[in-house]
Amino acid sequence: MNVFLGVSASTGISIGKAFVIPEAVKRVIPQFPVSISQIEQEWSRFIKAKAKISGKIQKSLEEINNESKQDKIQRELLETYLLMLDDPVFLQEVKQNLEANPFNIEYILDVKTEEYANRLRISGNAYLTERAQDICDIFGRVLNELLNIHVFNINQVPDGAVIVGREMNPSDAIILSKRKIAGLVLTEGGTSSHVAILARNYGIPAVFGIEKITKEVHHGEKLIVDGTAGELITDPDAQTLSDYSEKIKIEQEHRAKILAFRDKPAQTKDGTRFSLMANIGTPEEAKMALEEGADGIGLFRTEFLFMQESVTTQLHNHAMSEEEQFEAYKSVLETMQGKPVTIRTLDAGGDKVIASIDRPDGVEKNPLMGLRAIRLTLNFPKLFKTQLRALYRASVYGNLKIMLPLITNVDQVVKTKELIAEVMEELDADGIPYNKDVPVGIMVETAAAGITADCFAKISDFFSIGTNDLTQYTIGVDRENQTIANLYNEFHLAVLRLIQHTIEAAEAENIPVSVCGEMAGKTDSVLVLAGMGIRTLSMGIHNIPYVKELLSSISIAELQSISSKTLNNL
Ligand code: PEP
Ligand code: MG
Repeated sequence: MNVFLGVSASTGISIGKAFVIPEAVKRVIPQFPVSISQIEQEWSRFIKAKAKISGKIQKSLEEINNESKQDKIQRELLETYLLMLDDPVFLQEVKQNLEANPFNIEYILDVKTEEYANRLRISGNAYLTERAQDICDIFGRVLNELLNIHVFNINQVPDGAVIVGREMNPSDAIILSKRKIAGLVLTEGGTSSHVAILARNYGIPAVFGIEKITKEVHHGEKLIVDGTAGELITDPDAQTLSDYSEKIKIEQEHRAKILAFRDKPAQTKDGTRFSLMANIGTPEEAKMALEEGADGIGLFRTEFLFMQESVTTQLHNHAMSEEEQFEAYKSVLETMQGKPVTIRTLDAGGDKVIASIDRPDGVEKNPLMGLRAIRLTLNFPKLFKTQLRALYRASVYGNLKIMLPLITNVDQVVKTKELIAEVMEELDADGIPYNKDVPVGIMVETAAAGITADCFAKISDFFSIGTNDLTQYTIGVDRENQTIANLYNEFHLAVLRLIQHTIEAAEAENIPVSVCGEMAGKTDSVLVLAGMGIRTLSMGIHNIPYVKELLSSISIAELQSISSKTLNNL
């Protein structure tokens, strides 16, 4: 038995068998000349690898046995992939290049694929531009086959497993919402990372920051994850197992008690009402939010929709169509039965890279400061308008609010409103009904937005304070970086003052202000935020009944005293 100390990323205790994620293999393309006599052999290696990938796609096609909209889209995509694999023009080009310039086939294929994708990107034709990523994806698989690289597939994780890995990217993290994962143990990842947020939302105990953990844990080994204490126990003895089973029982009993708060309104002991909203990433979570007693959805992170790959086909290279988005938004609005639903426009980029958004600009040196969120969508107006159109079409099915992420400049709000006006005109022309008065608000999650909140209050219908990014950008500490996690402090005076200033700016213009960062669901910060005047908190679904219990035990005067002490003690 061994005990490893880490950092608590999601509370709770669980016992399960280890599923160790292998280290990611980076595709390195070798480059070496081949003799004329080897050309034929190189070509046949390519044909063989291509046939293997075709076979896999054919198999996936046969496994699609439903006629749902989603299945039709998947089928179309797979058929496109098959056509691409057999595109005679491309194959001819690869062959000619191999003959004229005899190098190993991996090198030739890599160069030609990139050339082909670039031609599509600059074609000026929207459909062809979107195909560029498909070409890279499908021939990338042929390259993997040639290089004998077997890409790890997160869908192999069984129910009841404790996932152990060095890190987990957000698109793989979506598995936490699909399977009954017992626990999560990682070397890297901050407690405000998206993986941690998802783990908390699903009540999955998680411990981060354990050095070289993939080398210490064996696949299939029994583990105890104590997310509350930030500990991992490997190969526990009988006594330890029984002690932890008892702790799990006590936890379950507390949870059962807490659940009594689900149906009660959120209020302080002296009767001040609060709205406790849920943060979600998929339409299914809206149902969970309602069950947990949420007053609405305060943040729907739509980028998670784009990250969901198909379990049948393992393809994630597929931009969400207007129709798919419309169905997802409509479903959340209908589920929430008229309660407010704040849907945030795509917050991709940064750490949330979405394969379906082809970015010809290549890898960014500093992605968190780069083309992410509103910057990315304004840069790709077609993508942005597709989302806005889906949102407005869905607006008649409930109480929708639209929220814009990572706003720093007034101009970004103005430009978005211009796109909204275009979308409305197009919907009018198509005779499609929509709500003309959907409130459009912003996330205050940069120091720029916080400091100039008075200006934004004049052009925004509401503010939602994103304390995760606000902390990251204000004190310049990467929220995902475990090595500087001790510097990531939401209670830093600079962050608290920005929050306070934002609340005052919102009050001056009489617009609603809420908090949707992780501070909104944690005991210590809820007390401070409530004392500062916040009455709407949007948090991980799991936290809602706990925050209700907390508020019910305290008065407004006590809350004010806590927050004024915190603000003045720094
Ligand atoms: C935030 O930054 O606080 C926030 C809620 O957005 P996200 O965590 O999705 O970046
Ligand atoms: Mg954010």
